[in-house]
Amino acid sequence: MLDSLRAVIRSDIQALAPYVVPVSDGMVKLDAMENPYPLPTALQQSLAQVLSALPLHRYPSPQAVELKRRLARLMGLVEDTPMVLGNGSDELIQMLIQAVAAPGTVVLGVLPSFVMFRMIAEVARVKFVGVPLKEDFSLDLVALRTAIAQHRPALTFVAYPNNPTGNCFDATAITEIIEQARPGLVVVDEAYYPFTPHSFKDRLPSHDNLLLMRTLSKLGLAGVRLGWLCGPSALLEQIDKVRLPYNVSVLDQVAATWLLDHSEELERQVAVLVLERAVLAEGLARLPGVTVFPSQANFLLFRVRGASGIFDGLRRHGILIKNLSEAHPLLQDCLRVTVGTSQENRQFLDALESLIPAP
Ligand SMILES: *Cc1c(COP(=O)(O)O)cnc(C)c1O
Repeated sequence: MLDSLRAVIRSDIQALAPYVVPVSDGMVKLDAMENPYPLPTALQQSLAQVLSALPLHRYPSPQAVELKRRLARLMGLVEDTPMVLGNGSDELIQMLIQAVAAPGTVVLGVLPSFVMFRMIAEVARVKFVGVPLKEDFSLDLVALRTAIAQHRPALTFVAYPNNPTGNCFDATAITEIIEQARPGLVVVDEAYYPFTPHSFKDRLPSHDNLLLMRTLSKLGLAGVRLGWLCGPSALLEQIDKVRLPYNVSVLDQVAATWLLDHSEELERQVAVLVLERAVLAEGLARLPGVTVFPSQANFLLFRVRGASGIFDGLRRHGILIKNLSEAHPLLQDCLRVTVGTSQENRQFLDALESLIPAP
């Protein structure tokens, strides 16, 4: 068995560190940017009725026209806005990279950012070039210009807001990158769009190499795997060829369509989370030795001396957040906490306070 593994599994895959999802049973789960609120019972029951009547013996609709209409409406765009749907935006990242992968192709991103850009590129044997952010997590335009000129990336990923730093980069700087990267494509990943007024959606018509990617995950439907990609239809037609025909299940399509027709509750939850984000940021800033970074997303990045020990201490208190202190030199002593319910945030702050040594 082991011989066969060594003989046939690519050595770079064998060397790859897996994407680890930690065990979180029974813990206060503030590690993965999930919406902490379940759907109200009445909504759950109505949705269950809709789902129970579905023809599960049939393949899902490959074009998902109804769902795309709802997504366009959600974005304030015209109903027939061209889109490609993915099983989460992770799958869209995979399709994009597969569509450009060839010997010598380069994918570019900033560091630190969403790890899937790099991981999926490496699995596809595409070279990933990471350009470090500045100390204050803003774009290093000089370094980016140089890297783009040198590597001519086929794809450049920009998360807006960025994960794990939480900030939106300067829009003028991103626009410069879009222009400089041409004919390479630039994907603006707006996974956290519910929590920020900033977006590149109005700039879509101005750039023929700009793609916009969104997901329902951070809105409160991480379990419904649905992401979507907008941009020039000629480009989307090509990327759609890479998509497996039935990638979004009947259950996901209908649940998403129905929930977008009943989205007032999700919108209310998002508004509460935006308020809770401010309360949590204030609570963190008040603690001695804690630096909290501004966030446009549903999480906060903060720096505290001895972050790894504090992360372990929080886990012993039954609270799971994300330890990023080893993830990148710019993130030394940094932890990331997802905004939870006010009670969860309080529990987290109390535990954190008890773990920080008195000054
Ligand atoms: C969470 C996240 C995603 C992944 O979203 P899915 O739709 O759940 O696959 C994509 N991009 C960024 C920047 C994220 O933080």
